[in-house]
Amino acid sequence: MTEKLNLFDYDRKALESYFADIGEKSFRAHQLLKWIYQHGIINIESMSNLSNDLRAYLKENTSVKLPEIITEKKSKDGTKKWLIKVDEKNSIETVFIPENDRGTLCISTQVGCALDCKFCSTAQQGFSRNLTTSEIIGQVWVANKILGHFENGKRMITNIVFMGMGEPLLNYDNVLKAINLMSDDHAFGLSRRRITVSTSGIIPGIDRLKEDNKVSLAISLHASNNELRDNIVPINRSYPILDLLSACKRYTSGKEDEPITIEYVMLKDVNDSLEDAHNLVKCLRDIPSKVNLIPFNKFPETFFSCSNLETINAFRDVLIKSGIFAITRKTRGDDIDAACGQLVGKFIAKSTKHQKNTAELN
Ligand code: SAH
Repeated sequence: MTEKLNLFDYDRKALESYFADIGEKSFRAHQLLKWIYQHGIINIESMSNLSNDLRAYLKENTSVKLPEIITEKKSKDGTKKWLIKVDEKNSIETVFIPENDRGTLCISTQVGCALDCKFCSTAQQGFSRNLTTSEIIGQVWVANKILGHFENGKRMITNIVFMGMGEPLLNYDNVLKAINLMSDDHAFGLSRRRITVSTSGIIPGIDRLKEDNKVSLAISLHASNNELRDNIVPINRSYPILDLLSACKRYTSGKEDEPITIEYVMLKDVNDSLEDAHNLVKCLRDIPSKVNLIPFNKFPETFFSCSNLETINAFRDVLIKSGIFAITRKTRGDDIDAACGQLVGKFIAKSTKHQKNTAELN
């Protein structure tokens, strides 16, 4: 028996074509999206503006399967981290970061990551599989549910960042459908500016995203020359810095474009010299960008340590004096291992160079 189609795997276009195939009008897709993403209703029987026949058909032929929150950890700064089960063997992590004027949800796109960035804890765990669209958008749905959004209508999640586990642009099709649902007025209806895809620099994905659904972009640059970047972000060997910067330039070519966020992790004595700062300025000369300096977050078995505060400030001053907007990202949730690069989930990696690190499941 083939598995029933999960409604959470479908964006508006896909639902419209599904309804066309079963002889229904396309506005049925809009009604269904509103029930699911605006009212938080997933019981087909309660979708009162769908005809009885359609409800019976959907109940028979579709499912509404969501990932499941297993544990919640709360940091003293209010950050929440959820361990979310996506199947019997795999769990991922999702983080909610409340601030005065906004609430940011940091979501995962893969179980683990195949890219092997040397300073990232997820990378040390290896890679298991891509998440489906339902597992990606499901993180947003279950987070909204637990934060009470569907009950009181108050938007707790105002921003979404693809900065959890995985490389979003290596799971392009599923990520795109999830972005479509986040930005669709019939679904979550978030402004594209409030959705940020962070990538280690997958150039074909960057170019496709510009055409398909141009949300905010963040680039994990972390080095200003190929020699160092080849080493700490090994995907650089396939997509070297100059080509990546050209892709950034293409992405921002348009009138009202938002600047690209450049992420730069501060690693003591690795990439944090004043010379590195000046090289970074040169790299960004022609690109509308703002720089986020990220203090390195420790995890067990890492050789790196974080640059000290004076070094970070001096590095930032070079950028600012050269006319680049630069801030140091505030570390949130580090007491519950919820900060950048600390998300690990639980899974058995299919590929890993650190076999000893493979999951501690069961
Ligand atoms: N794979 C995507 C999303 C990953 S995480 C990407 O590479 O952009 C979000 C950011 O945290 C990335 O810039 C990542 O390089 C950074 N990061 C990873 N490990 C870190 C650590 N231990 N400390 C600080 N930042 C880290």
